[in-house]
Amino acid sequence: DPVLKVRDVCLSYHTLSGETPALSHISFDLMPGEFLSIVGPSGCGKSTLLNLIAGLIEPECGSITLKGKTVSSGSTSVGYMLQKDHLLEWRSIYKNILLGLEIRGELTPEKLAHAEELLHTYGLDRFRDARPSQLSGGMRQRAALIRTLVLEPELLLLDEPFSALDYQTRLNVSDDIGKILKSSGKPAILVTHDISEAISMADQVLVLSARPATVQKVVDIHLSVE
Ligand code: ADP
Ligand code: ADP
Repeated sequence: DPVLKVRDVCLSYHTLSGETPALSHISFDLMPGEFLSIVGPSGCGKSTLLNLIAGLIEPECGSITLKGKTVSSGSTSVGYMLQKDHLLEWRSIYKNILLGLEIRGELTPEKLAHAEELLHTYGLDRFRDARPSQLSGGMRQRAALIRTLVLEPELLLLDEPFSALDYQTRLNVSDDIGKILKSSGKPAILVTHDISEAISMADQVLVLSARPATVQKVVDIHLSVE
């Protein structure tokens, strides 16, 4: 069964200058452990779609369900990673990784042990006491990802997480993070304007049209390389 079902979703922004349709009748499914990339022209509505899936905004029509439940704001089952890593510069990497647990009041021995394990598995042990400014851009994104994984989300959303990195770093980091995500077994959705990044990381690529976004194509990467 799909983990995520997006059905016939639409949304417009209503501003003083009028109505801006952003998404029109978007439908797709995400299977357990699947990695979906979403590509489309700038301003077509990709971030809006992720915000809807995160439950931060509500669709005007259609429905979005995660494991059978309608997504809603305050839901803790979606992890969201953005272009900026939003690491707190005055905290060590370790303390940054624990931030979400701390906010939720979930600093239990099990969760702390899980944080330790993630730090170790993903090679951040040696940076645990470092400040974010001492890390490379790629390592910072790794730390941001671990901060999200430690919360054990059922779904990960990544909105252009590599666009602040230079080209070569971007290639390395996207490959690296792609592997981490695959090994975590979490379903994930990546929004990017970089088509090669979309293809290299994903099982499926969803191509959106210019605003208001509609689904133009769903490309199954495994099938298309055969
Ligand atoms: P993308 O992520 O594909 O670049 P967005 O989802 O950010 O696109 O935006 C889709 C469209 O909706 C754009 O035209 C954008 O200007 C508009 N938009 C986004 N957020 C708002 C908002 N809060 N209020 C009004 N218009 C918005
Ligand atoms: P992206 O392209 O990465 O989605 P943007 O620069 O388009 O980012 O948007 C950044 C923020 O500004 C988002 O929170 C979005 O909702 C908001 N925004 C974008 N376009 C508009 C708009 N026309 N009016 C109001 N807010 C907007």
